[in-house]
Amino acid sequence: MTVKKKQIVECDVIDVAFGGKGLAKIDGFAVFIDQTVTGDRLAARIVRKKRNYAEAVVQELLRPSPMRVDAPCPYSGYCGGCKWQFIDYPHQLEFKRRHVSESLEHIAMMEGVRVHPTLPSERVFGYRNKMEFSCSDRRWLMPHELGTDADIGFALGLHVPGTFHKVLDTDACLLQPDTGNRILESVRRYMRQSDRPVYGLRSHEGFWRFLMLRHSVDRDRWMVNIVTASEDRDAVQPLADLLMDQFTEVVCVVNNITARRSGVAIGEREIHLAGEPVLTDRIGDFEFEISANSFFQTNTRGAGRLYETVGRYADLRGDETVVDLYCGTGTIAIWLAAKARRVIGLELVESAVADARKNCLSNGIDNCSFILGDIKDTLENIETTPDLLVIDPPRAGMHKDVLKQVCRMGPEKIVYVSCNPATMARDMLELKADYTLEEVQPVDMFPHTFHIESVARLVRKT
Ligand code: SAH
Repeated sequence: MTVKKKQIVECDVIDVAFGGKGLAKIDGFAVFIDQTVTGDRLAARIVRKKRNYAEAVVQELLRPSPMRVDAPCPYSGYCGGCKWQFIDYPHQLEFKRRHVSESLEHIAMMEGVRVHPTLPSERVFGYRNKMEFSCSDRRWLMPHELGTDADIGFALGLHVPGTFHKVLDTDACLLQPDTGNRILESVRRYMRQSDRPVYGLRSHEGFWRFLMLRHSVDRDRWMVNIVTASEDRDAVQPLADLLMDQFTEVVCVVNNITARRSGVAIGEREIHLAGEPVLTDRIGDFEFEISANSFFQTNTRGAGRLYETVGRYADLRGDETVVDLYCGTGTIAIWLAAKARRVIGLELVESAVADARKNCLSNGIDNCSFILGDIKDTLENIETTPDLLVIDPPRAGMHKDVLKQVCRMGPEKIVYVSCNPATMARDMLELKADYTLEEVQPVDMFPHTFHIESVARLVRKT
């Protein structure tokens, strides 16, 4: 049977593919179906046909998989924020472990690598310490709102995959703690009543652009960042004052201003509106000052588990030189500093390096130093061979030249931290002639999404 666009096919989901979609085979032909899981039997409608595979959506679920649970969030299945709420948590963890293991098999051509069971997240809801809600002048209507008199000209919430200008008017997001949802509601009410217009993602006109919330888990305090298209203190200051009045938990309100068209909630300029200038949180024994635009792991408790794994794999005695590639704001360097002779962090972003230095000072750490610049250029300036190299690249993985330099440098041990199993596997392919991949520990920082963080331990071949 050949599969055609718009055709309805009956099929069984036999696996979950990387990217989180269910996989079915129609006479051997692969069909990927969003929002399905192994064990589902369904009628699927083909929406896209390519040479080697097709994509389909659920027309009717004929027999639900035993792995299914009722998603507690009403936006589940529509919202792009998290797509796996309908799969029970133990199976989410197992799918993630398999994605890591299969990426190593298929991309790195490595059989039999020890990939441990995924370390679960301590919390499966309310775990995110940072949320970004978009404003839009076009609201995505939920099925029960279609044909009602719901106001479609305003939305503050999360995106629906496949449309860029329509946004859900999200009442609450279960990935953030509940206070965040009360703040969201308050801001929505204010923006709706305001005489300043909401931003249009297609027209690129309007004032209110994003609401970013950050939560300090350690102190249970919040930062509110209101992102607008232009400067207008009269519009934003009353909102800041209102939030400071209404919520004892809100300790900081800032206004980022951006005229850029891109959908990134980072301002060219920041105005401090109320309270403290930064938020303070803690991972393990260390405190970190977080400003609106600085990078910080989005699951604070999960970051603790991740760094514990890094520490265990690093297995330091106290006299080692450690080099930390892609060090960001220095969190891993700081985590390892007490057990090493010295740590050198390399990072591209100037503000991250400034934060890293500040974080060392405030945590009383004096054996870390940081080098600003592209690792492609800065790594070759490191003269000594480190005893341990920590590598925590962005999603895209490492640059080919950097991988070559790492092999030339030849540190005894490497701890590789990754948020993308596919690029991790690609980098392992480059390292495997010189290094043995001893073990990999997946750590779940993002329940109900298919994202997975992993820590890999490599030892140089003799
Ligand atoms: N290790 C940190 C952050 C990792 S995120 C933590 O755990 O918090 C990856 C970091 O790599 C980002 O801070 C990014 O700015 C940095 N980066 C990306 N490309 C880079 C490059 N070519 N050279 C140096 N740093 C880079």
